[in-house]
Amino acid sequence: MTNVKVLLDLQEIMSRSRMVEAEKQKVPLEVADLKSLFEERETKFLAAKLEFEQLQKEKREKEREIEEERDKVERAKSKLMSIKTNKEYYAMLKEIEGTKRANAAREEELLSILARYEEVEKRLAELSADVGEVGARYRERMVDIEARMAKFDKDISRLQARKAEVAASLDKGLARRFEMIFDRRGGIAIVAARNQSCMGCHMNISPQLFNLLQREDRIHSCPNCNRIIYYEGDQAQQAGG
Ligand SMILES: [Zn+2]
Repeated sequence: MTNVKVLLDLQEIMSRSRMVEAEKQKVPLEVADLKSLFEERETKFLAAKLEFEQLQKEKREKEREIEEERDKVERAKSKLMSIKTNKEYYAMLKEIEGTKRANAAREEELLSILARYEEVEKRLAELSADVGEVGARYRERMVDIEARMAKFDKDISRLQARKAEVAASLDKGLARRFEMIFDRRGGIAIVAARNQSCMGCHMNISPQLFNLLQREDRIHSCPNCNRIIYYEGDQAQQAGG
């Protein structure tokens, strides 16, 4: 196989590889909207969850305080019986009243906590259902996308193996140069020369160079764009034979 034929094969493989890469990169964009929707819902859900946990803590603390103060009142009441002096008796009653008043205020606080608690609990349930629904849709799409990504990866590694196989017969310096031109010249590193012009940049080629192209199976470059050029007629003949 001539170098030209090898390079043309290589170019085709590299182009296909590039196309597959481009397709692969487009895939995550398909779920970008769903992903950001899911993330938005998840953030809301987590914020509500945090708020709910905080309220649970406040509710428990308030209930415990109220319980403790009630016990205090009960203990004080039973002590009342054993009190000997009026002074002590009234002091104790005053203390009991004070504790009861403080507890009444705590109960008011508990009521407002409970109202918020119920509201957040309801909102949390709604957000949980919502995040679950969006999450299920997102995961379902991701399963599909991962399968397609895996297929792309498989194609890419198959093409890479094929590329290495084809490039193995080339001189290393030429292979490197070819890759460099491929990257810098929009994926076209080797082009035909037709009617004394380079089909890559469409500039004229000198008649001397065009003659060389027709006669030699040597690598020539376009003096303008540096792409590797070949005489198409020769290739057509070789392909036919
Ligand atoms: Zn050119």
